[in-house]
Amino acid sequence: MYRIDHWIDGRTVSSTSGRTGNVYDPATGQVQGTVGFADLSEVDKAVATAKAALPAWRATNLSRRAEIMFHMRELVAANRKEIAALLTKEHGKVTSDALGEVARGLENIEFACGIPNLMKGGYSEQASAGVDVYNIRQPLGVVAGITPFNFPAMVPMWMFANALACGNTFVLKPSEKDPSASMFIAELLKQAGLPDGVFNVVHGDKVAVDRLLDHPDIAAVSFVGSTPIAKYIYETGTKNGKRVQALGGAKNHMLVLPDADLDMAADALVSAAYGSAGERCMAISVVLAVDTIADELVSKVKDRIPNVVVGPGNDPSSEMGPLISGEHRDKVAGYVAGAAGEGATVVVDGRDGAPAGGFFLKPSLIDNAKPGMKCYDDEIFGPVLTVVRVKSYEDGLKLINDNQFGNGTAIFTRDGGVARQFQFDVNVGMVGINVPIPVPVSYYSFGGWKASLFGDLHMYGPDGIQFYTRSKVVTSRWPDPRTSKVDLGFPQNR
Ligand code: NAD
Repeated sequence: MYRIDHWIDGRTVSSTSGRTGNVYDPATGQVQGTVGFADLSEVDKAVATAKAALPAWRATNLSRRAEIMFHMRELVAANRKEIAALLTKEHGKVTSDALGEVARGLENIEFACGIPNLMKGGYSEQASAGVDVYNIRQPLGVVAGITPFNFPAMVPMWMFANALACGNTFVLKPSEKDPSASMFIAELLKQAGLPDGVFNVVHGDKVAVDRLLDHPDIAAVSFVGSTPIAKYIYETGTKNGKRVQALGGAKNHMLVLPDADLDMAADALVSAAYGSAGERCMAISVVLAVDTIADELVSKVKDRIPNVVVGPGNDPSSEMGPLISGEHRDKVAGYVAGAAGEGATVVVDGRDGAPAGGFFLKPSLIDNAKPGMKCYDDEIFGPVLTVVRVKSYEDGLKLINDNQFGNGTAIFTRDGGVARQFQFDVNVGMVGINVPIPVPVSYYSFGGWKASLFGDLHMYGPDGIQFYTRSKVVTSRWPDPRTSKVDLGFPQNR
């Protein structure tokens, strides 16, 4: 048994609230640690520390901030196996997937190394006689990040890399289910040269989150998690005058057209539906199969499922690990159990033969699903792929556009014209063309549409820089006695 506590002012600080949560090993189902939950005074202490560190940090020159990000880049790369091991230990994902998570998070630190260039403003000389106008981007102040269980390293990196590089100080409230990665990252930031107090971690639940949302010294909140909580965070945070970006849940559809390479599509479906046990917000959870190829596609996916090796994440032969908790495993299993009663066809039932002991399920495949069925309507967030049979491209497109979520989607086709039409037509924030999980590279930004994102700016990349800075416009004239005169009119530029 181990114990996780907060990280405040560059060191571990024990929680004194008396409230704790269990940290499970999802591969065994056993409690392996506890995490201290912050009370109001502990959150206040972290925020006060971040506030005290702000003046010196925002005054730190750009090349030094970039240098710290370069150091952090090297440290994360050098420690990627250690970080991945922590992810496997508490989240359960298999090692190869955990290493992928670290690699995709690292991209965001690499992006932030370019901060001197990213924070450049514009300059207009001679906007009026002797007058120059320019804009500068300045940090917001103390900003908070609230993150989900499914990417305990990558999602914090989406946030803090740009936030810190822009000159903000940071308070992270990671998921209480897998809190260790954030503590390891905090240690690495210290080693990278980040001054104490600039990055802080408080663990906890709604109590900590609510305090961050109403704390007067928090300028902005970045959130990633489920849609009901994202909506709550956005509404509460903005009501309290904060800038908020809140990314929510998903139901990502892949449309497979008759001209697609069906083996390639089936490989992509199995990878994107069952990778990380389906606990990815960009997982494909619905395949829209055009009638003429639906039988063949379903049979190809079905044939591949027995080859997916389900087991503990630290076993090198495992391709899919357990789910995050027993409660979540049972909830996911409930969708499979209920599917036949709703009129769908359970082709593969992942409740059969799942390894005993941990929070395991095997992949499930449900055919003949339709809107109105829970297995189609809800975000299941587990290793369950539902098939909806559609008559045409237009039918499939309509389902995607009618869905409440708009995080990711993909089309599989060999027809470039139709693919281009899809990219034009579809009401989804991230689109893959023969790419099943189109998570944007770090120099674009990540974000869905509709109930998958509340707020105006997407996460990381150029939107991240916008989110963590505000623009100031300066209009300047240096004294030139030759042009000085009294003029009571409104300033004009002609
Ligand atoms: P969650 O919404 O339960 O929790 C996310 C964070 O909110 C955690 O830090 C948690 O402690 C906190 N929280 C939970 N309940 C709260 C409450 N009532 N009040 C205040 N704070 C609360 O999400 P999760 O189960 O950790 O993660 C899975 C969800 O996240 C899925 O819906 C998934 O689609 C989504 N997700 C979305 C993205 C994206 O980029 N859109 C990325 C990853 C995960």
